[in-house]
Amino acid sequence: MNNKSVNNVVILGGGTAGWMTAALLVKTFGKRLNIKLVESEEIGSIGVGEATIPPIIHFNDELGIDPKAFIKETKATIKLGIEFENWGNIGESYMHAFGDVGKSFPLCDFNHFWVKAQKEGVDFNFWDFSLNYQAAKRNAFAHVDKIPGLNLAGLAFAFHFDAGLYAQFLRKYCEQRGVTRIEGKVSEVKQNSQTGDVESLVLESGESISGELFVDCSGIRGLLIEQSLNTGYEDWSHWLPADTAIAVPCESVEPITPYTRSIAHESGWQWRIPLQHRIGNGIVYSSKYMSDEEAEAKLMSNLDGKPLADPKLIRFKVGRRLKQWNRNVVSIGLSSGFLEPLESTSIHLIQSAVVRLVKMFPHHGINETMVDEFNKQSRIEFERIRDFIILHYKLNHRQDSKFWQDCSRLDVPKSLQQKMDVFKASGLVFRENDELFTKIGWQQVFIGQGLIPEDYHRTVEQLSTEELAEMLTSVKQIIAKTADKLPSHKEYLEACLK
Ligand SMILES: Cc1cc2nc3c(=O)[nH]c(=O)nc-3n(C[C@H](O)[C@H](O)[C@H](O)COP(=O)(O)OP(=O)(O)OC[C@H]3O[C@@H](n4cnc5c(N)ncnc54)[C@H](O)[C@@H]3O)c2cc1C
Repeated sequence: MNNKSVNNVVILGGGTAGWMTAALLVKTFGKRLNIKLVESEEIGSIGVGEATIPPIIHFNDELGIDPKAFIKETKATIKLGIEFENWGNIGESYMHAFGDVGKSFPLCDFNHFWVKAQKEGVDFNFWDFSLNYQAAKRNAFAHVDKIPGLNLAGLAFAFHFDAGLYAQFLRKYCEQRGVTRIEGKVSEVKQNSQTGDVESLVLESGESISGELFVDCSGIRGLLIEQSLNTGYEDWSHWLPADTAIAVPCESVEPITPYTRSIAHESGWQWRIPLQHRIGNGIVYSSKYMSDEEAEAKLMSNLDGKPLADPKLIRFKVGRRLKQWNRNVVSIGLSSGFLEPLESTSIHLIQSAVVRLVKMFPHHGINETMVDEFNKQSRIEFERIRDFIILHYKLNHRQDSKFWQDCSRLDVPKSLQQKMDVFKASGLVFRENDELFTKIGWQQVFIGQGLIPEDYHRTVEQLSTEELAEMLTSVKQIIAKTADKLPSHKEYLEACLK
């Protein structure tokens, strides 16, 4: 595509995406790259995005960030999973808890033991075997790598944090390491008249910033990737009908729960994300089924504490940019696409895109084969996450509103239908193409929303009904005992803040 060495990288945007990108690039390449980040205080960032998933720990570790400093500065709390309330049916709830459920064997996952027990009338709750769930419901947390004395995994966790504070935290990190921040609004994007490559960004002040590689972190508008390069967008709203959110923070209440809540309502759902200093709340809905006024009234009447700001309305279109990398522009963050926040995947998509960029960084020029590979991996990643999110809507048994009835009749992507059919027939889940969500994540949503497999793996037949009941009772007791001994989430946070 071009043979120009890349020494000057220009990042447009200083939201979570911009600063995460700058941080990993400067950490990895140091002074070998000249990195400039342009942002406009007047435009500001989207100001939502508070729940993450466990890989964020690796990102922070890679940057060498001290976990205690991070928790303090970003007002973070621990997240052990997401509780889904009223999704399968009104009055029911389950958790997509991180980490393991029970004890799996190399050729047979734990869920097969549970299914056999169910079929034989030995009734256990699937989440009796999740240490994460048991800790979450006790509002407890500590670092546990393994359950002592047994080959069972410990607690997997992520964070809830204030995304604005995280961006500021990373800004400090980047500026200390030589990233140049430029304040100003981009008013013009100059492109090469022959190749179409972006050459420079011109600010309202007249200042021009040039580079060989541009990272578009300008948010939903996609100033470079779409408004300048007309890359195109694949719209997935026929599968994921929510198109609007209203967000509002409210005062904290005790206890500070170590999990996110996702509470379904008649035309969408509401999130509740506890931070140290406040609770983040938001309602997500389809404007075809619910008016903005109705949604706002519903949100404001369902807060745990006094609101701390005016509600903020955000429109979005679910889907992805057709090429995450086009010419000499790589889009990262909301500019590259958006999947609604049900499984807290957007910040993770930023992380994986930056990691991919670092791995394929075009030091000696932009090579079409590498760009195609980057875009292929990005497409697969978006599609797999999309399927997982659609599953929550599709697999509902609610009859109380047209929204849920329409969702249950959805004609889902073939890739998802196949996964659902395989699970229903056999209890098996296959994790494809390095997809983000684990087999256990899929199993929890399937089972939590009422899809119980018709069969189970024959390995399980090695145990009689009595032996199976004994084994399950013993695993359940060990997990409960381990959870009982954990300190509270509050104690954990207090120790970090000392
Ligand atoms: C309702 C909702 C809830 C969400 N919840 C979660 C969640 O729980 N977990 C999660 O992982 N993600 C969540 N997300 C996604 C998350 O908010 C974003 O992925 C994340 O904040 C990254 O945003 P961004 O940096 O791409 O864009 P933005 O935050 O919009 O930043 C854009 C930046 O570009 C700059 N900019 C734009 N135009 C110009 C210009 N002309 N000149 C100069 N600068 C410019 C702006 O000043 C700003 O700095 C949520 C998103 C929504 C909509």
